[in-house]
Amino acid sequence: MLQYRSTRHANESCSPSMAILNGLAPDGGLYVPEDLEALRLDYREVLKEDYLGMARIIFTKFFPDLAEEIPVIVEASYRGRFRSEAVTPLVPADGKWILELFHGPTCAFKDVALSALPNLMAAAVRKNHFEDEILILTATSGDTGSAALHGFSDVPGTRIVVFYPDEGISLTQRLQMTTERGRNTAACAIRGDFDDAQRGVKEIFRTMPHPAKGIALSSANSINIGRLVPQVVYYFAAYRQLMDAGRIAVGDPVTFVVPTGNFGDIMAGWFARAMGLPVEKLVCASNSNEVLADFLATGRYDRKRILHKTNSPSMDILVSSNLERLLYFVCGEEQTRRYMEELGEKGAYEVSSAELESIRACFVGGAASDEEGAKAIHDIFSSDHYLMDTHTAVAWAVSEKLEERGILSEAPQVILSTASPYKFTRSVLAALGEEVSEEDRRNMERLEEVSGVAMPEPLAGIFDREVMHRDVIDPPAMKEYVKAQAEGR
Ligand SMILES: *Cc1c(COP(=O)(O)O)cnc(C)c1O
Repeated sequence: MLQYRSTRHANESCSPSMAILNGLAPDGGLYVPEDLEALRLDYREVLKEDYLGMARIIFTKFFPDLAEEIPVIVEASYRGRFRSEAVTPLVPADGKWILELFHGPTCAFKDVALSALPNLMAAAVRKNHFEDEILILTATSGDTGSAALHGFSDVPGTRIVVFYPDEGISLTQRLQMTTERGRNTAACAIRGDFDDAQRGVKEIFRTMPHPAKGIALSSANSINIGRLVPQVVYYFAAYRQLMDAGRIAVGDPVTFVVPTGNFGDIMAGWFARAMGLPVEKLVCASNSNEVLADFLATGRYDRKRILHKTNSPSMDILVSSNLERLLYFVCGEEQTRRYMEELGEKGAYEVSSAELESIRACFVGGAASDEEGAKAIHDIFSSDHYLMDTHTAVAWAVSEKLEERGILSEAPQVILSTASPYKFTRSVLAALGEEVSEEDRRNMERLEEVSGVAMPEPLAGIFDREVMHRDVIDPPAMKEYVKAQAEGR
């Protein structure tokens, strides 16, 4: 049976379901499947299925010890929960293809994984006769928080606490969290920035793994393999839709362009390729925080730079955790451990030229500024009446730049669209050359008038919903807050 191991030590292995429960390996590494060969399959068989069928096959490959429960998990996670029959529909726009990943309950691509993770965790709890209740602890700069709160809302055997920065997220993002009604949910603002929230959460994991008797902590961030695997499915779903559209025949190569922050989404594409899907290139698109683009150009990863606040905030990140998984498969555990130590101690590391070459056989990097993204939103709306969000726009702009430089082949390009334009209404309106109001409700209505694209239903009523969570605390009080939640005070 397939086992999981840490990216940093060979001897830290465990079953798939325990990897989901633990989240992070005890040595600080990430869990990876021990044997890539065991994941290989006849991808043509997968392509015969609908989305749920693909999910069943892929989940079973990665989590064989949960095989019996997977059909039920997939059904509960996706049937009727997305506003599209296809779950992740593929639409043509101006010569490229857009894979819309934002039709879930909170209108961002994180829903694809966070619809499934609570069900996977509940099954893992049963499988391992785990007696503790699970408390999910998450720091968020926006999209993960609302998707995780929604996913875990009223799931038996779990509670969830989300910390978010009191300033620096949009009103829409805040309301999506504070109006969540689940009885097992808490959303708490921190007087500080995202880094303060993140640091506080890591500290609590380190010092208080059991915040109360019978309560164990776990994570809903993309370091959890249970969050990565559900994202593998839509690469297959996109490929199948290109076939259905008559654009490719089975076996033809396809390039995917991925707006990247923590490297989770694009790493799922790497796993799809490792399973056998004909992926030509994975394009890693960064905003003006170009750490990954620089890494793919030079082999040097250097986080010692200023974090720019862009209008694609979910990609404002300097340490892309999931890159560690790729390093492991390319460089092995000893080198990975060394690189991660260097990153911690000196803020930078550099891979060898052979390692870089092997990474570049599959990955291409590029970056686009806010202005270039805004131009893409404007131009594609003008030419093709397709409206995209600011994160998707970064990917679009990077794809155009690489094409101009003759770097991409003739293979069809699929741009992963990670959020509804209505989640980032102010920036999208501004890109279209419209006036932006101080009132977000007005902005949403305006965007609807201008674009003729209907506001997604989960966001439509958001300004009228009752606010359930009003807590605001200082970072040093986070630990006590979690303890109180765990004790049910
Ligand atoms: C999280 C997020 C991303 C980045 O995805 P990673 O898996 O962290 O690389 C891109 N766009 C949006 C809208 C997101 O919420």
